[in-house]
Formats: sequence, structure tokens, C-alpha cells
Amino acid sequence: MNERSIQLLDRLNTTHSLSLEEYTYLLDHRDEELMRSAAEYAVAYQKKYYGNRVFIRGLVEFTNYCKNNCLYCGIRRGNRNCKRYRLSPEEIVYCANKGYDLGFRTVVLQGGEDPYFSDEMICDILRRIKKEHPDMMITLSIGERTKESYEAYFKAGAGRYLLRHETADPTLYGHLHPAEMSWENRMRCLRDLRDIGYQVGAGFMVESPGQTHRQLAMDLKFIEEFLPDMCGIGPYISHRDTPFAEEESGTLPTTLFCLSLIRMIHPRVLLPATTALGTVDIKGRERGILSGANVVMPNLSPRDVREKYTLYDGKICTGEEAAECIRCLKERVRFVGYEIVTDVGNPAGYLAP
Ligand code: SAH
Repeated sequence: MNERSIQLLDRLNTTHSLSLEEYTYLLDHRDEELMRSAAEYAVAYQKKYYGNRVFIRGLVEFTNYCKNNCLYCGIRRGNRNCKRYRLSPEEIVYCANKGYDLGFRTVVLQGGEDPYFSDEMICDILRRIKKEHPDMMITLSIGERTKESYEAYFKAGAGRYLLRHETADPTLYGHLHPAEMSWENRMRCLRDLRDIGYQVGAGFMVESPGQTHRQLAMDLKFIEEFLPDMCGIGPYISHRDTPFAEEESGTLPTTLFCLSLIRMIHPRVLLPATTALGTVDIKGRERGILSGANVVMPNLSPRDVREKYTLYDGKICTGEEAAECIRCLKERVRFVGYEIVTDVGNPAGYLAP
């Protein structure tokens, strides 16, 4: 750790902002000592705003059909080896109810971009869950749709939306996605979601194929400027049936360092220790919490469909029942000195629109 890195971290800690060059410098000069300092600053904020509480969100992966062909993703349209499934609206509502009974007050409905689920169907599912459990917060994560669709879901009861921007660099975006997808539309979606009044989650993959430190710094700058309510980041992990099969996966240390920097950039952000992080290292999620993360997302999907939702190889937690998944996470979180809480878990200081 050199003098300049120390100065930059100190300044980030007080101003929550650095230039693109400065973020790049920190990434270029990451070593164990620098990581430790960043984690200390990050955990101080995490404790200041959230104490030792870690929020839990139940994840329901309800379809792996996808009309998109993202080059990194295992459920891309072009993957013929992917066994496709869809849960019925009844099954989705059932999973949400089960989550409620297990104590969850927030559920995330995620899927590939599956046009089979029309706006009417999505709204109907949202209304059914809300009718049974008005105190349940529902997060949608179903990709790019029109502003009208997003408005309809919001009216039907969705309060949060997760849409990772994937990368803040349009050039890298073009390298990771087929020509028919556009970075501009992704950004348009994020703006629309925010304008409508959702709590918005952005996020990116760490060390995706070809990503430079400068490009990763662009993601940090984007988070600094957009200030999403939540930021989902995890290492890129190769999937054998994608064009990027031979590419190297992202690593634990870079991801942990990014988590700490994001906590320093945006102290109140909701920051998940993701399944991908738990996949690159058996203690990845615990290390994530100790680097500033404060959310975990156990899987509530029915067991028989879990291993079909493989975005990347080696995904953990595909064999367990929901209750088992939660028990395991609770223990892991407690082991590192934190406590799982099941309530809605708004960002600190959040005022409903
Ligand atoms: N269709 C939805 C949900 C996508 S899956 C949407 O477009 O938002 C959720 C996230 O998984 C993606 O945003 C992406 O960042 C991540 N993901 C996909 N493939 C991955 C891979 N190979 N390694 C790591 N993360 C991946």
C-alpha cells in the first residue's frame, strides 16, 4: 500500500467521490493491506447505518426462457443444452407464500426475458401476492421492458426493480452482448424505473471477459453518480455452453475490493453478497459481508427447477430446500458476527415516495 493509495482512500471516505483515474489507480494498486483498509472503512459505514443486521431476500427464479443472447449467460437463447422451465402463476404465488411463512417480508421474482409472461400475467401475479400479504415487498427482475410496462407493474404492487447495468462502458457492453441489445436502452430502463418511483437496483459483473480496470472504474463512477438504492455485483463466472466458455472467471479479491469501495462511495446502499461470490469461494458471502455487504438472497425456487437456472457453472445451493438454504445462511451470517433480519429492509434513511 503506497502513500497515494492511502490518500485516495481517505479522500473517498470523506467525499464519497474520486475521479475515473483515481478509481483506476486504486484498482491497479490493490494489495492485501489496501483491501484491509478499504474493508475497515466500509464496515464502519455498514455498522453506522445498519448495525450488525443483514437483510434477507427470498429469490424465486420463475422462468429460464430468455429471448436474449447475452454472450456470458448460461440461459441465453442460443444455448440448446439448457433445459427450459416456467413456473405457473400458481406456483410463483405459492413460492411467495412459502417465503412469507418462513418469515420473509420481501421476495424477488427473477427470470430470463420471457415474453410468455405478458404484462397482464405479471400484474395478476403481483396483485395476488399483495392481496394475501399487503406487507410483503415485491422486487421484480425481469429485464428490459417499456416504461408503460414498468408503470403497470408498479401500480400492481411491485416496489423494487433489479436491473444490473452490467457495465457502464458502452464498448464493453457491446462486447458482452449481441448487436440487437443496446447499452442506451439499458440505461433508459434504469432512468424510467427511478422516475416511476421504484427502489432501483443496478449492478455489474466483476472481471467480465476483456474488462480493464478503467472499465471497472467506470462502474464505480456510475454508482457514484446514479446512486442506486441497491447494487448487485458479483464475479463473472464462465458457463461451458456460452461463447465465453474458455474465458477466465472473475476472482474473490477484486470483487471484495469493489464491494468495499461501493460501500464507501454510497454508504447507505443495499449491497448483496451474491450467490456468484459464494460460488467462486466457499466463504465468499461471509467475506463479502466483512467487506461491507449487507444483503443475502437465499433461493426460494422449487428444488426441481433450481439447477436449470444456471447462469454460470458451479452455482451453489441448487440442491437444498428453501428452509435448509435459510438455515445455512443464518448460521454463516451469525458465524461472522452478524444477524439475519427478515423485514422489508429499506435503505437507511429511505422515505417512501
Ligand atoms: N433477465 C434479467 C435477470 C438476469 S440474471 C435481467 O436482464 O435483468 C441476473 C444477473 O446475473 C445478470 O444481470 C448478470 O449480471 C448475472 N449473470 C448472468 N450470467 C452470469 C455469469 N456468467 N457470471 C456471473 N453473473 C452472471
